[in-house]
Amino acid sequence: MHGLMQDWPLTVDKILDHAKRWHGSREVVTRSVEGPIVRTTWGEIHTRAKRLSNALLGLGIQPGDRVATLAWNSGRHIEVWYAIMGIGAVCHTLNPRLFADQLCYIINHAADRIIITDETFLPVLMERRHEMPTVEHFIVLTDPDRVAKCGMEGALSSETLIESHSPDCTWGGFDEQTACGLCYTSGTTGHPKGVLYSHRSNFLHTLVTLQSDYMGLSVRDTVLAVVPMFHANAWGLAFTGAAVGTKMVMPGAKMDGASIHELLETEQVTFSAAVPTVWQMLLAHLRATNGQLTSLKRVVIGGSAVPEAIIRAFHDDYGVEVVHAWGMTETSPLGTMSTPTPEIAALSFDEQIAYKLKQGRPPVGSDIRLVDDAGNVLPHDGKVFGRLQIRGGYIVREYYKGDGGEILDADGYFDTGDVATIDPTGYMQITDRAKDVIKSGGEWISSIEIENIAAGHPKALIAAVIGVAHPKWDERPLLLVRLKDGETATAEEFLGFLDGKIAKWWMPDAVMFVDEIPLGATGKIDKKLIRQQMADYRLPTS
Ligand code: ADP
Repeated sequence: MHGLMQDWPLTVDKILDHAKRWHGSREVVTRSVEGPIVRTTWGEIHTRAKRLSNALLGLGIQPGDRVATLAWNSGRHIEVWYAIMGIGAVCHTLNPRLFADQLCYIINHAADRIIITDETFLPVLMERRHEMPTVEHFIVLTDPDRVAKCGMEGALSSETLIESHSPDCTWGGFDEQTACGLCYTSGTTGHPKGVLYSHRSNFLHTLVTLQSDYMGLSVRDTVLAVVPMFHANAWGLAFTGAAVGTKMVMPGAKMDGASIHELLETEQVTFSAAVPTVWQMLLAHLRATNGQLTSLKRVVIGGSAVPEAIIRAFHDDYGVEVVHAWGMTETSPLGTMSTPTPEIAALSFDEQIAYKLKQGRPPVGSDIRLVDDAGNVLPHDGKVFGRLQIRGGYIVREYYKGDGGEILDADGYFDTGDVATIDPTGYMQITDRAKDVIKSGGEWISSIEIENIAAGHPKALIAAVIGVAHPKWDERPLLLVRLKDGETATAEEFLGFLDGKIAKWWMPDAVMFVDEIPLGATGKIDKKLIRQQMADYRLPTS
């Protein structure tokens, strides 16, 4: 017997409809690519998105067609997302930090028909245009006079298109399982693979992440969306912000410490979210300028493990709560968050740190478990390392065009490629990516744990640990450190700092001081590249 409740397809256009109707005057503020701060509202974004939908229909876009964006976080970029999704087309977010070859691969794989771009990215698009045969139009997110001067033949101005089309456009009316977003994983191994979100999965993810133990956004929040809209669905912020009508602040192209600090203060931001490297830059800027944070209350940090030094600096120096999150493009992306339970909240701050360093627990709507290489389910004892698996209504079932084949196991779980522990309180902790874990004498060493402690050394700016081949132990850890400007240090200082904080047999066999630790397209340490660079390196112990 079916229930007798209304069938109201969960399509994301309803989220922006809601924002217009109930939070229409709430502001969306952008540091524009052109330079000035630009202010609009959820109401205006809705109207302009509808006009843009008509423009896209006029250019021949049909349901299911892929329309790509190559753009910074801005009010205009939000309009574009909803304009594409509202008419049943698929918004394909391109990551400008990818190599041009990878961008071309992705554009061709997705067969994008239109690319909507910021001026910033015109050089790469112009240079590679001939390698994108499926792309019929380029729309530049700026005024017509700037487009006329940009040098790209045939490029269209988003402002001209918006002004010349009616806001009268019907959105939705299709099945909630319809595809609406396409985001490729960064391809740290092999070609990037496409994760194809549906309206339903994004709608569910919005409701789930809005729970107070997760993103917990409210109409009283002012959100600085630092996590790029081209990275893992912007952690859902373009949907959750609209859903509860937060004031949104979009940083455009400038993500350095000074620019972020300026927006946090001038717009009185209460909540923000980004990867650790962004916060490291902000904290360095605050220290150097004796800056203060007068409104910020909470930052969600994820994408890579949060070093203890960041959690403590935010708490001790600025009174800001850090919530650690884990997720991936394949999980829409929120997987777990480490908001304290009442028992953990009752502990002293120092005692809570052990939990804050963990990635936390899953919200209702998905579930996680650990398995060994043979697929046996492992206990939640906080000690056993296992492969982290996840399933749920907003978790990938299959990559776009079937790449990578069958990716679920017999129980319907997706293998995340991460290695983790889960403790008796249910807190999951990522110990490594499966390909980064260091296998020493048949046991596993967590590279993440060592590098996070090393990064807390007062002289360290950033640290990375990789496994290096060893004749006796298979692999042993090598610690690479980039020191803060003007500092000098010895290997012994760092080994002494680690002593007592990690097991003896986890101690790195060598410490190297380097000028640069390479970061990948999503701001994470690029260990694949480090391993390539260190291919000829031999440990002194081998
Ligand atoms: P990629 O980094 O490959 O571009 P994603 O952004 O989807 O793609 O990254 C997902 C991966 O990032 C996870 O599988 C995990 O390895 C890592 N990750 C995400 N959040 C955390 C975290 N809080 N701690 C440690 N690792 C994390």
